[in-house]
Amino acid sequence: MDSNSLQVKRKTFKKGDIIFNEGDIRDNGYILEIGQVEIIRCRGEEDEKTVATLRTGDLFGEMALMEPGLRSASAIAAEDTVAYLISSNILEDRLKGLDPIVTSLFSLLIERYRFSRIENSDDGEVFGRVLSTAGKAFHSPTSLTDFSLRKADALKELALEQEIRRALDKGDFKPYLQPIVSLADQKIIGFETLIRWHHQDRGIIMPDDFIPIAERLGLIQAIDRKMLEMACDIIPKMHDAVSGVDKPFISVNLSGVNFEDDSMVMGISDVLNNANIDPHHIKLEITESAFIGNADKAAKILDGLKELGVSIALDDFGVGYSSLGYLHKFAIDGIKIDKSFTKRTRDNQKGMDIIQAIVGLAKTFDLGVIAEGIETEDDLKILQQIGCIEGQGYLFGKPLSVGDALKILH
Ligand code: C2E
Ligand code: CA
Ligand code: CA
Repeated sequence: MDSNSLQVKRKTFKKGDIIFNEGDIRDNGYILEIGQVEIIRCRGEEDEKTVATLRTGDLFGEMALMEPGLRSASAIAAEDTVAYLISSNILEDRLKGLDPIVTSLFSLLIERYRFSRIENSDDGEVFGRVLSTAGKAFHSPTSLTDFSLRKADALKELALEQEIRRALDKGDFKPYLQPIVSLADQKIIGFETLIRWHHQDRGIIMPDDFIPIAERLGLIQAIDRKMLEMACDIIPKMHDAVSGVDKPFISVNLSGVNFEDDSMVMGISDVLNNANIDPHHIKLEITESAFIGNADKAAKILDGLKELGVSIALDDFGVGYSSLGYLHKFAIDGIKIDKSFTKRTRDNQKGMDIIQAIVGLAKTFDLGVIAEGIETEDDLKILQQIGCIEGQGYLFGKPLSVGDALKILH
């Protein structure tokens, strides 16, 4: 075989180009580098259906690498697109040099994938994703170890997916509550729910160790929804615990991934309708990542959420893509200044100037401001001076179990 046929080729498609058609003989698999591809069944017919929209890093047409036959769907470039072409020769060539254990594992996965497709044609997804992760290694196989590691990662991810699903069923995800206070008198005005995974073998797992994976696996929507349901359960108990007229709110984090889901507003509306609470006591914390990609769609979703009566806070303000343009475009009620800014006020005047500017900006737009990461009396003093009204941080309280949070309200 000439070495040319063993090189991964990179091909450009213009928006609207057909990459392959349903019924074509399967030749290559593709890894999408730039752009967007739609996978369509029964293209041009009455029952035409877009079955997937793929983006950078996604693998498609991969059945060509597993068994000969005809394409069962068409792939169309939805934007100008660049993709890597992976032929079965390339795949075989790259598998040859691998650790035999890895190779046999990979072959086994392919067998199972085929089997699962035969068993249930809609449920090849899981193994498809494993292959997709492994597939990503193909276009830049920096080293054998790298490849094996990625595959091991793929397997770990598969196991974790099962564990997360089980944890959801078993109720092992628990909301912890961190107080949010009014900086003037440090009275509690609300709580943020922060998820903790009570794992039977590994103890408490922190969100940073599983949220990104849950986002990648598309499980975060179910997790966030569960947290919202639990927040709705806690609110009446919390309101019973306070005697005054000012009833604390509960903030729930909503991953940006939820914004890809058209039924998200409906889902939240269902949770609120099933709960016996006034939605004004719920605040949803979102990050700017929710706006990336399709800002107009995100703006509509936010409007939909606002109509449900909840309030919206823009989380981690100042990190990432923050732009003044966003503030008026989206129906947000307030911003949360990321803890890295609070930290910076400790070192220098510039850090203080930044927060001062953010607070000023928020006031211009009539937005509330919560400063995060207040750890010391000095932090508190500085933020009070700057005119920040609300705050959150270890100085006022760490995230507490629900029982402990209710106790501090009494
Ligand atoms: P976040 O929303 O920015 O939450 C604030 C994080 O800062 C929390 O970390 C909190 O424990 C920590 N923190 C609070 N006060 C202080 C302080 O004074 N100093 C310092 N150094 N840290 C402080 P945690 O609980 O580990 O959560 C990490 C991130 O995980 C959250 O960041 C949020 O992005 C995500 N997360 C947590 N719960 C959920 C959830 O239910 N759903 C989703 N989608 N994401 C969640
Ligand atoms: Ca948050
Ligand atoms: Ca934050």
